[in-house]
Amino acid sequence: MPGSSQRSGTGVSVSAFSWDVKHTIFERAEGRCEWCWLAAPDGDFHHRCARGMGGSLDEVLGRAGNGVLLHRGCHNYLEANPDRARALGFRVDQGIDPKTVPIRLLTGWVLLDDLGGVVGTDDPVTVVATG
Ligand SMILES: [Zn+2]
Repeated sequence: MPGSSQRSGTGVSVSAFSWDVKHTIFERAEGRCEWCWLAAPDGDFHHRCARGMGGSLDEVLGRAGNGVLLHRGCHNYLEANPDRARALGFRVDQGIDPKTVPIRLLTGWVLLDDLGGVVGTDDPVTVVATG
């Protein structure tokens, strides 16, 4: 029922990934863990920028640009190594729109948009070095 999809006010956080967003992330990742690039049919949907702060970017955090598909083990590794996760774009600080932050997949540095797109970008370290 189209009219029954409005979830605002039901206690469901706007920053949680909807089924549609998870589907978009899974398709973008081609069903692979975006950390190790191996098949992850039962992978976790990781929030690059943690949710739940109630800030103005909360709605952005529920979009595909903030999500990556990860194995549970890879997810745990990134949670346990936040500095490395942040350096590679798998972790984004509060208040920054994740789709503007490059992430390093095995194919190289990219930007993840909110529609499931992947756009190649420069190595951010090089950008900083030449700036
Ligand atoms: Zn993995």
